[in-house]
Amino acid sequence: MINNVQIIETSEFTNNLTRDELISILEDNSCNEVLYKAADRVRKKYMGDEVHLRGLIEFSNICKRNCMYCGLRSENKNIKRYRLMPDEIIELARKGTEYGYKTFVLQSGEDEFYTVEKMKYIISSIKKMNVAVTISIGEKSFEEYKAYREVGADRYLIRIETTDKNLYDTMDPKMSHENRKNCLRDLKTLGYEVGSGSLVGLPNQTIESMADDILFFKEIGADMIGIGPFIPNGDTPLKNAKGGEFDLSLKVMALTRILLKDINIPATTAMETLNKNGRVIALQSGANVVMPNITEGEYRKLYALYPGKICVNDTPSHCRGCITGKITSIGRFVSKTKGYRDKSKNVLT
Ligand code: SF4
Repeated sequence: MINNVQIIETSEFTNNLTRDELISILEDNSCNEVLYKAADRVRKKYMGDEVHLRGLIEFSNICKRNCMYCGLRSENKNIKRYRLMPDEIIELARKGTEYGYKTFVLQSGEDEFYTVEKMKYIISSIKKMNVAVTISIGEKSFEEYKAYREVGADRYLIRIETTDKNLYDTMDPKMSHENRKNCLRDLKTLGYEVGSGSLVGLPNQTIESMADDILFFKEIGADMIGIGPFIPNGDTPLKNAKGGEFDLSLKVMALTRILLKDINIPATTAMETLNKNGRVIALQSGANVVMPNITEGEYRKLYALYPGKICVNDTPSHCRGCITGKITSIGRFVSKTKGYRDKSKNVLT
């Protein structure tokens, strides 16, 4: 009988796994090291040793949604809210270029203060710095996504969180799973590099649904996938939940690398919250991207999606040096390109 080690070793070359195989590997912890090493080899073969740094700007922690797992949910009255003005956001990006960042990720809760005109001004101003711009501001209309694309936005991140519709409906009250999928389709249609991803370890989340998540990433042709463990936040209804496990999150990430061989996969900050070496371990298990936070001062603490977030007391300059040291310590190097999935666009002028 073929065992999971053999299945993983074959999948490294076929980049294919059935749903049953994914489930069997996710359930079997005896093959974890084999899986991580196979994912690392796939990463090396298709993405090389360069690591792309994306400078993350968390510009508003105000959100109209109420996701059960998230510290920014609108019903959380224990969080001090903040919102950066457009010129402050642009200035953070300008400083980021001085640290050598070639890509910025503009992330916020779903905050209606930022009208289409404001976002267009922010995106077009940052694009003049000859960098790539990723946006992560939630569910918008096709026209809005189109407007951002027209002023130069390159990428958009919107996690599906889970493909289990019933679980999604419980976790994201008053949100529509179908609409979220439509957003992903719209973004693809508009020519964005599309990023999605999932949380691992939500209450009542099954291994079967995690296998479906991985297959979904492949089905939609995702260009980036971020996997993060669910970490219960004390200011949310899920404060007493068990929370996700580092190894299971890492396994979902590694399997995603095997199936989607040439996409960008970040070593997420949440991984490092659960394991003090989490991002390095992720980089050695299929990841090829890190997103250091370049938001400044108090705002770093206030973007509290989950507790125990790393680096909240550091400066952007410290983060840049720290992560570069970690990357070089494992024989990898920081990319000098904008890190497009389509390498023909990695032009430096
Ligand atoms: S997960 Fe996103 S949409 Fe949901 S409450 Fe948090 S910031 Fe808002």
